[in-house]
Amino acid sequence: MDFIFVSGNLGLDLAGTVGHRRGARFDMLATPEDLARWTVAAELLDAPPAAGDDDLAEAVALREAIYRLASAARTGSAFEAADRHLLNEAARRPLASVLLGEEGLERGGDVRAALSSAARAAAELLGGPRAALIRECEADPCTRLYLDTSHRRTRRWCDMRGCGNRAKAAAFRARAHRS
Ligand SMILES: [Zn+2]
Repeated sequence: MDFIFVSGNLGLDLAGTVGHRRGARFDMLATPEDLARWTVAAELLDAPPAAGDDDLAEAVALREAIYRLASAARTGSAFEAADRHLLNEAARRPLASVLLGEEGLERGGDVRAALSSAARAAAELLGGPRAALIRECEADPCTRLYLDTSHRRTRRWCDMRGCGNRAKAAAFRARAHRS
């Protein structure tokens, strides 16, 4: 399965590697290899890093902490201290390297370095004014979180091409059925 980056923030994109959280939940980070692929798909590393079960467990713990923190921000609830602590531990670690090589961009590091980038993105979001823009996709059963940066703050779906199109097509069918 291809990873999706439509949330407008790398931390929310990591949280979005679980789909349909309140229904037939599915996990796109099911193996350490999935996690290694995600770090490349997220454009944090050039090549898949070595990843083991410990890395996967760490990534999943960070992901779930980000999801709970972002959900708290969305609903106006207080952050859980344990989740903040977990996020900060990840954000404190060294980032992946970003260099200008002879052939162009060179990005390197391990899984933890890549996760540090996601954790920092989440911290910047949750601690700043843009936390007020966190939304949950309205298309059932999608539960993806995203930033509504639309001009009028009226975006209702995580991804116009996916959930947005499906929701509009369903509304059109419903109208056609009634008339
Ligand atoms: Zn959606």
